[in-house]
Amino acid sequence: MQTLTVNLNERSYPILIGENLLHQPGLILPHLAQKQVAIITNTTVAPLYLDTLIAGLALNDVKVIPIILPDGEAYKNSETLNLIFDALLSNRCERKTTLIALGGGVIGDLTGFAAATYLRGVPFIQIPTTLLAQVDSSVGGKTGINHPLGKNMIGAFYQPKLVLADISTLSTLPDRELSAGLAEVIKYGLIRDLPFFEWLEQNMEKLMARDTVALSYAIKRSCESKAEVVAADEHESGQRALLNLGHTFGHAIESGMGYGNWLHGEAVAAGTMMAADVSRRMGWLDDKAVTRIRSLFVKAGLPVDAPDLGANKYLDLMGLDKKVEGGRIRFILLKRLGEALITADIPEQTLRATLSETVA
Ligand code: NAD
Ligand code: MG
Repeated sequence: MQTLTVNLNERSYPILIGENLLHQPGLILPHLAQKQVAIITNTTVAPLYLDTLIAGLALNDVKVIPIILPDGEAYKNSETLNLIFDALLSNRCERKTTLIALGGGVIGDLTGFAAATYLRGVPFIQIPTTLLAQVDSSVGGKTGINHPLGKNMIGAFYQPKLVLADISTLSTLPDRELSAGLAEVIKYGLIRDLPFFEWLEQNMEKLMARDTVALSYAIKRSCESKAEVVAADEHESGQRALLNLGHTFGHAIESGMGYGNWLHGEAVAAGTMMAADVSRRMGWLDDKAVTRIRSLFVKAGLPVDAPDLGANKYLDLMGLDKKVEGGRIRFILLKRLGEALITADIPEQTLRATLSETVA
């Protein structure tokens, strides 16, 4: 097992990464304020992992309230949040009850926001079970729900007490979800870690084959990167925005195609290729670098060509239709492989050229 720390003074917390951690309740017990927890999970993850977690905790006299939600991004909303509150209130959960998120990023975001707001804040623990959640959403304290008018629009910064990444849970993850998580892993290499990018070029086959040694290294390196960025800029007033490489274009793809049709990681991969193309046109990346990025995404089973929505539609979806000249939107681009930058100064012709030439 490997242990990292997210350094946020009195809100610091450990990330534990390893195999079969769900079978080790002793890792969780020291972080409980009281021997009572509510485990929030969904109908897909519960049959796979809930019993193991409950059994270990019950053996240690921890009272467990399971809360099983419907599965899907469509349920990351205020109605589902209320189901959590209903269960917590009807079970008379107190301020020392710890909420445990057992699932992917949807469960983590919902549970974290419930924890931030129930009784004005109760402790919570993340047990991420998707690769995306293990390398990204469970670390850093962004919690929240969607609103009909926008994704992740309601939320809070609220840090967990512990992140327990059991890589054994990845054995049941669908291939497409594994690839989506790899998009965010590759992102860390691209924005701040050339040696890791090169390691990924050498080890992508192993990751795709779910080699546990390779997976645990990739998860550890990703969490280290995210922890460093978050420790330096918890509330995204500056460099935390670098984590959004490929996301401006990616969000346009996700919403333009209808949420759920492209997985977030898939949209980030194609969106990153768009960001790489803009970076090339700005003279920062050469053709060889762009090809290396493309090949790595392809090896990870990810799409590299964005859907052809038309440049105007993209600009519209990026909130850029009227604003592009003033360049009010900030793009995360690549200065070189392993180094990202934030800029609002991209000429409209450059952007339009990318939007019409990097599509399938
Ligand atoms: P998800 O939570 O929807 O999980 C994907 C699918 O895999 C779901 O059907 C889930 O039930 C299933 N699943 C989970 N674990 C499994 C396992 N071990 N075996 C088999 N199936 C399993 O999606 P995700 O990609 O984990 O997370 C996406 C969400 O995370 C989005 O809502 C996004 O906004 C959010 N997010 C948040 C942050 C953050 O910083 N808070 C960062 C990135 C993404
Ligand atoms: Mg993302």
